[in-house]
Parts: sequence; C-alpha cells; structure tokens
Amino acid sequence: MSLAEQFITHSVDNQAPPQGHYNAYLSDRVLREAVAREGGDWADAHLAAFGAVTGGEMMDLGFTANAHRPELRAFDRYGNRIDEVEFHPAYHRVMQLGMQYGVHAYAWRNSDRTGAHVARAALAYMHNQAEAGTACPLTMTHSAVPALLHQPDLAELWVPRINSYEYDPRVLPAAQKSGCMVGMGMTEKQGGSDVRANTTRAYPQADGSYEIVGHKWFFSAPMCDAWLVLAYLDAGLTCFLMPKLRPDGSRNAIRVQRLKDKLGDWSNASSEVEFLGAWAQRVGGEGRGVATILEMVALTRLDCMIGSAGLIRQSLVQALHHTAHRKAFGKRLIDQPLMRNVLADLALESEGATALTFRVARAVDASDRDAAEGALARIATAIGKYWICKRCPPAVNEAQECLGGAGYVEETGMPRLYRQAPLNSIWEGSGNIQCLDVLRALAKEPDTRDAFFAELQSARGGNADLDREVAWLSQALDDVATLELRSRMVVERMALALQAAVLVRAGNAGVADAFCASRLGGEHGLNFGTLSPNVALEPLIERATLAV
Ligand SMILES: Cc1cc2nc3c(=O)[nH]c(=O)nc-3n(C[C@H](O)[C@H](O)[C@H](O)COP(=O)(O)OP(=O)(O)OC[C@H]3O[C@@H](n4cnc5c(N)ncnc54)[C@H](O)[C@@H]3O)c2cc1C
Repeated sequence: MSLAEQFITHSVDNQAPPQGHYNAYLSDRVLREAVAREGGDWADAHLAAFGAVTGGEMMDLGFTANAHRPELRAFDRYGNRIDEVEFHPAYHRVMQLGMQYGVHAYAWRNSDRTGAHVARAALAYMHNQAEAGTACPLTMTHSAVPALLHQPDLAELWVPRINSYEYDPRVLPAAQKSGCMVGMGMTEKQGGSDVRANTTRAYPQADGSYEIVGHKWFFSAPMCDAWLVLAYLDAGLTCFLMPKLRPDGSRNAIRVQRLKDKLGDWSNASSEVEFLGAWAQRVGGEGRGVATILEMVALTRLDCMIGSAGLIRQSLVQALHHTAHRKAFGKRLIDQPLMRNVLADLALESEGATALTFRVARAVDASDRDAAEGALARIATAIGKYWICKRCPPAVNEAQECLGGAGYVEETGMPRLYRQAPLNSIWEGSGNIQCLDVLRALAKEPDTRDAFFAELQSARGGNADLDREVAWLSQALDDVATLELRSRMVVERMALALQAAVLVRAGNAGVADAFCASRLGGEHGLNFGTLSPNVALEPLIERATLAV
C-alpha cells in the first residue's frame, strides 16, 4: 500500500443517493386519484407530460433560478429610466415551460370541458413542487381573466394573449406580443388587508382613459405586461388595467423603487412601485373595484391552497426518499417505528390537503353551471386557504427534520421549501382575513352554509367521528355572538371536517379512518408523528411513495 493510500481514511457511505428524475404525475397515486375523482383525468396524457418536466428538468432549474436572484435595473447605461428586472436564464426557462404546458391558461383554453380547472390545478400543483416562485406570475395571469371579461374591449386585446402558450418576455405593446403576463397591485403601505385605506387615485382623462397617481407597497412580478390595480375615483375604489407601455409604445409612468429582500420566494421579483400619472383603463364599474378584483383573488386563493398542498407533497417525497436509504441504529430510518409514525402522519396531512384542494377546484370549475357548487367554492376556498396554508410550514419543517442535518442544507432543496412554506398563508389575505371571510360568506350568502353542510352530509354514516363533528359545527355556527373571536377554531374544524368528508367519500377506509381518528377523534398530539397504534401506517406510507 502506498503512503497516499494509507491516508485515504474517508469513504462516503450510508448517504441517500440523488433523488433522480421522476414523473411527478404518474408517480403520485394520491394526486392521480384526486384528479380522476374530481373529473380532470381526461387530461392525463398532458399531465403526465408535465409530470416528466416538473420531476425532471424543472426540478433542476429550480435550484439555479433561486440561487441567482432577480436584480432591478432601474436605469440603462445612459441614465435613462427603464425599470426592468433582470432574471437568470433558468428563470426564463421555467416560465417558458410553465406557459408551454398552460399553468396560466389551461383552464380557459379547455373551458368547454368539465374539470378543466381540476386539470389545471394538477399542473399548478406539480409546478409549485419544482419551482414555486414562478407560480406567482403564472397564478396572477390565470386569475386575471374573469376580472378582465368585465370589460369586453380590453378582454379582446388581452385575453387571447394571456391564453397563449408562448412565453414572450420582450418589452413590446401587447398587440405585438405572442403571450402576455398580468400581475396585481392592491397592497399599499398604510393598508393591505384593509384596501379601503388605499390612497392611490385615478384621474379621468378626456379620451376615457385614466392617469393614476400613488404607490403600491407589494407589486410582485413587475416584469408583467399589465397589472390590475386598485385606485380611488370619487365613486370609490375602482379596478384599472395598467399596461407596462402606453398606447404609443412609450414606457408607462411606473417607477420600480426597489425589489423586496424576502425570506424566501427568491426567484420571484416582488417590488415596490410608484405611479406618476400612469396610463390606465377602467375594468368594471366605478366604485366596484373591490368586487371586480375579488373575482381574481378568488382564484389566486385557490392557487394558494394548490401551492401549499404541492409544497407539503414535495417535502414528503424528499423525506420518504431519504429515510428509505439512510440507516441509523442498524435499521433504515423508514423502518424505525417512530419514524414510520412521522412519515405516515405527514402522508395523511398531504392526503387531506390534496383531497380538499382538488374538491374545491371542482367546485370552482362547476360554479357557472351549478349554484350549489358555486356556493361551496365561495366558502371552501376561504376555509381551505386558511387551513392548508397554515399547515404547510409545520409539515414542511417536520419533513425537513426527517433528513436530519442534511434537511437544513441548501443542496437538498428543503430550506427552499421551508422558506416558501409560510408565504401562501400571508398573501392574498392572511389567516385572520380568511376566517373573517368565512364569517362574511355565512352572514351574507346563506347558501354557502347549506352548501358546506350538504358536502358534509354526503359522507354521513361513513365515519362516527365525522358525524359527531358535523353536529358540533352546526351548533358552533349558530352561536353568532362570539363567532368572530372563535373563528380560527371554528374554521379549522370546518376545514378538517371538509377534508374528512372528501376522504370518506373517496373510499379508502384506511386513509379516511386514520384521518378522522387523528384529526377529529382526538387520537393525536400537537406534533406530527403522534398517530395511535391502531392506525395501519404501512399503507399510508406506501400510497405516498413514488409509484414509478
Ligand atoms: C412576497 C409577497 C408578495 C406580495 N405580492 C403582492 C402583489 O403582487 N400585489 C399585492 O397587491 N399584494 C401583494 N402582497 C401583499 C399581501 O397580499 C399583503 O401583505 C397581505 O394581504 C397582508 O396585508 P398587509 O401586509 O398590509 O398586512 P395587514 O393588513 O396590516 O395585516 C397584518 C395582520 O393583521 C391581520 N388582520 C388584519 N385585519 C384584521 C382584523 N380585522 N382582525 C384580525 N386580524 C386582522 C392580518 O391577518 C395579518 O395577520 C405580497 C406580499 C408578499 C409577502
């Protein structure tokens, strides 16, 4: 043995191999069941194609797009104001793939088919797992369509370009572009949840357009081609479409002040902007701004659920992979009883999140055809947005811990998932706002209560814990005097009951009974990994494991 060989003391073993590429659709039994159950499986071939992309090339690109954050280029080399954001090529490629498969447009392009929103939800679910920052502009672009349809002259120009599958980042007038992106500007410094506190004003011009003066404190996606923006007219808050370029092709008076230095969401450029008489056109009636933009927000809130369910799923995939390969104390981690409890519990959380998300996607899909589904979509979006987005950070953190120290290291991708995890709960109406929105729906649209209980009744007799919970909820909602104070508790239990009902009807008794016993029946602690010995852990872990 040479001297050099004697000094080789280090060999790497007992480390998980790289996850490798996989198909994020075909390998995900729970997702495929949900898509089929809610009527989107006619898109299976398309979803499988995107599954190969999101479990492959896009998964790799996600690391690069986040390692090289976008940078503001406020001026060109000659000192001209340009207010542009520079992105890494990996970001552009992710956007191009997302648009090519229709994450922003699949539901509208297939609106003649039942379940188009369900199929599109599956695209977004997979996209979020590979790269969540780009999900923000794709979501806003998708969600802008119903609001834009209020103004047919604007819709004629913009909607076909939104519905294009081409990513076109060039700075050109919309008419010359092959694809357009749309963002949203509501939040100001002095008020976000309470948009009535907005100070931005719109000034009518002789030609029917408006000039907008003011600011927005959060303005994600400043590279978009246009934004739906709230500003005051004498009649009240009104919605406007503010394009990046004026009709003559010159830059609109939108100044990007700076990009936000955020906890996570690093690939996404969130900015602060000022409007110095920016040219805009009205969308919807004067003073109807909140109602108009809420049509967009209803869809972005569903996307928050989709995103959080996707992040929970991806962190679980990583935890299952690692624990299947890493040994400690003579056995694989996945074979250690206590670790099995943690993994099975995370799998249950993922089942509940995915089941409710896709059920709500079906309700959204059916809203135009079926009033009861519309009412369910109205209330269940707020319920699900509150609960699933709140569950995301602890679930991702628990999955991260399954990797031990490696889960705290950037290369595994877990820190990125962890940084992203709280965001869906904060934006598009934070947790308390969702709870208050549930109360608003119950008070102002009584059919939402009927739709909620009808959904629970559809699973009646399927599980005793769920039946007891339905009785409790019925009483809890009747005590109106203290409802606002109790609304987090009530909405949490509404969410758990909805998740349980979908799982009971889905017909896998092992999953449904374990969910009901742990989430409704009290057989659970405050942390994950506290399932009772009565729960069969193996089938839960098996269902969550990559199928191919
Ligand atoms: C990364 C990122 C990107 C964003 N991008 C955009 C964007 O593109 N466009 C845009 O318009 N906005 C955007 N936002 C803003 C986001 O939607 C708001 O931050 C959010 O809605 C909360 O508003 P706020 O920050 O003003 O908080 P506040 O309204 O001040 O709320 C603070 C807290 O008080 C709670 N609260 C408020 N009212 C009540 C009440 N009545 N009872 C009990 N609790 C209450 C809220 O739930 C919250 O927890 C973005 C935010 C982030 C973090």
